[in-house]
Amino acid sequence: MRSSVFSALAWCTIGIVALALALSTLLAAAGAADPARAAVAFLTNWRVWLTAAVALGCGLISIRVVAGSLAHRISGLRQYSDRILDDPAADSQLLHADDELGVLGRSMSRVPPRVHELVQRVSLEAQRREAILAGMVEALLAVDQDLKVVLCNDAFARVAGVPAGIAPGTPLVRIVRDPALVDLLRDVLEHGGPARRRLQLGSSEGPWFEVNVAPLAMPAGRGAIALLHDITELERLERVRKDFVANVSHELRTPLTAIRGYAETLLDGALDDAENRRRFVEVIETHAIRLNNIAADLLALSELDNGALAEPPRPVLVQAAVESAIRTVEPAAAERHVHLASGACGDLEILGYRMRLEQALVNLIDNAVKFNRPEGEVRVEAERTDTGHARIVVSDTGIGIPSSDLPRVFERFYRVDRARSREMGGTGLGLSIVRHAVEQMKGTVAVESELGKGSRFIIVLPAHHAA
Ligand code: ADP
Repeated sequence: MRSSVFSALAWCTIGIVALALALSTLLAAAGAADPARAAVAFLTNWRVWLTAAVALGCGLISIRVVAGSLAHRISGLRQYSDRILDDPAADSQLLHADDELGVLGRSMSRVPPRVHELVQRVSLEAQRREAILAGMVEALLAVDQDLKVVLCNDAFARVAGVPAGIAPGTPLVRIVRDPALVDLLRDVLEHGGPARRRLQLGSSEGPWFEVNVAPLAMPAGRGAIALLHDITELERLERVRKDFVANVSHELRTPLTAIRGYAETLLDGALDDAENRRRFVEVIETHAIRLNNIAADLLALSELDNGALAEPPRPVLVQAAVESAIRTVEPAAAERHVHLASGACGDLEILGYRMRLEQALVNLIDNAVKFNRPEGEVRVEAERTDTGHARIVVSDTGIGIPSSDLPRVFERFYRVDRARSREMGGTGLGLSIVRHAVEQMKGTVAVESELGKGSRFIIVLPAHHAA
């Protein structure tokens, strides 16, 4: 380019120099005495005009040619840059001359590979981010300072109860109805510091979340990012634990108060009361037995809660466990005039733990005796099911359980008739021990009952198949 421009300029310069030379020659010839005449002679000299016209003509043609070539090459560069903007990976070539435009072209031709590499890196990062967001168990949400969604994952959409793919820019209040979360984000946006809170989203039955919110610096201003960790199960367990502690304290208080009261009465003089002192001591004994029962049941529950048994499950002969459980309950049954009977279980074996099975059977048979009528009956039967399980049924002819109480009888400390259960020395823990023990052997327990007629507790356990 430089040479073409120079040649055009050179031709123009030659024209101007030719004119100047001609003028000075004429001035010299006409003598400097009359410059006006010399100027007229110069202007009327056709050779001067011809020389100047030829020189200027050549200069203009050169400029036209150079300008045309420049325009063509600049347009080439523009098309090239359009092509690389549309597709940095496109394999297009630039012709390089040895001038400034050539240098510019060479610089530009180094851009597409760099742009291509950057685009690839950015799209890889985006894919990685999408994969992380999609794979996250925690719900993630980022908002801008106007509380509009900048980014969120599918887990968050599930938490909010809206379809996945929330568009950036959607106002948060349109997807989250819970004011607590919106307020928490607003708080962080206003104060600029991180915050953590436990929130229950939705109704009072809704899930619980531990929400961590941190401020987020964004190009367009401030924002906030929230991570919601589902702690519903943790919260439930905490509530169960608190209820359990409250229940245990309550259960212990009654016998302890009674023992202390009667002991004080005896010490205050009732020891000399020959008529009543035996009764007082008997009451103390009854409550001490209750305390003992509670302690034993709590211990059994805690053993079951501590879960994983070191030993693998073994084949257990059902007949042997049933007979042993019946022997344990026999004295209580005899006292209440309740008949115990068991059907033949044959060689049916379960895959589990002998102690656990016996524990469950003793509790069920004991209840069947306790909540029976005099001369009532308790039957224990076992059979192999079509699905390859062992079904053990403990049925009685007792008082039965109201249908409204049936779903709750396996809960800890749940009793249909609190006073009657206490009177019988019950702790309210027997059936929850049964459920725990059975579940530990990967089985299930269910109850059917008819008020005034009797109840049936059905245990289903994996049967052992002899090879
Ligand atoms: P408890 O120590 O009171 O027996 P359980 O957990 O064993 O506690 O039983 C819970 C409640 O379920 C009992 O208080 C009783 O009201 C009811 N129940 C359990 N088994 C029977 C049954 N065979 N017949 C009638 N009611 C029963």
